[in-house]
Amino acid sequence: MHHLDGNVLSGSAADLFAFEATAAQGRCRSCADIAALGQALVYGLPMGHVARCRNCDNVLLIIVEHGGRRSLDMRGLCWIRVAAGH
Ligand SMILES: [Zn+2]
Repeated sequence: MHHLDGNVLSGSAADLFAFEATAAQGRCRSCADIAALGQALVYGLPMGHVARCRNCDNVLLIIVEHGGRRSLDMRGLCWIRVAAGH
């Protein structure tokens, strides 16, 4: 099967990752709740934040800042949905 180089994603990925996070919707991997990320329950960490599901307390995402870099762990989300062409 023919495939393309990952660089072909640059346009759509750039648009996708330039979204307003609080307005984006996400689906919890644990309970399937769909909500705006702005509705998550967020707790501070010494090096970042943890966002938990408003419905089941599952960890949706973790943002960590360390050594001049920021990491995003989204293991608790099935997906995020943002408006296209914003
Ligand atoms: Zn949940």
